[in-house]
Amino acid sequence: FRKVNILGVEVSSLTMQEAVSTAEAFMDSKTPHLIATANAEMIMNATHDEELKNILNTADLVVPDGAGTVWASNYLGVDMPERVAGFDLVQNLFANAPAKKRRIFFFGSAPGVAEKAKAKAEKDFPGINIVGVRNGYFSQKDEAEIIEQIKQAKPDLLLAALGVPKQEKWLNTHMKELGCPLSIGVGGTFDVMAG
Ligand code: UDP
Repeated sequence: FRKVNILGVEVSSLTMQEAVSTAEAFMDSKTPHLIATANAEMIMNATHDEELKNILNTADLVVPDGAGTVWASNYLGVDMPERVAGFDLVQNLFANAPAKKRRIFFFGSAPGVAEKAKAKAEKDFPGINIVGVRNGYFSQKDEAEIIEQIKQAKPDLLLAALGVPKQEKWLNTHMKELGCPLSIGVGGTFDVMAG
């Protein structure tokens, strides 16, 4: 996909359907991939956080989340067909998940929230297989246990809601060890799903 450099962050110009197809291919691939959903706030963060900027520029796909990102791209002369919001992208992946027998793990948000998001996904997408949940409030000493929990659940899709940039940094650090073919930082998605 054509990329546009917005304040140093390379964002792909693509449609939601193209983002969904790419994500499905990553899940089928069996090697770890990271998708980041770049809104204006994340891009601004990256201008003063070199580690975040590097993670975004080495991620397998950075999609244009938010009207600000689409506007900036068009302003810079690269046509963005549409906004690819992280929330909508994962709902599309959930819709495909039962037929493709995907295993999905919800990591992050406050205690109880990911459980409610799981119940909502099970109601909206009958047959979906959420293979594990874990809240996003932990200390260093809990990390090995969390990694073990995710590895044992063997997800095809790991969604991490720890806020920006914590989720991108955590996923980038651990994705190889976790061996999950697709990880996505999803910010407030579980909170929205939990209602
Ligand atoms: N969160 C978490 N652990 C943390 C910090 C935040 O699990 O240490 C969760 C928080 O409960 C929320 C999600 O991360 O569900 C996204 O937080 P926020 O909306 O503040 O982040 P943003 O997406 O705006 O960066």
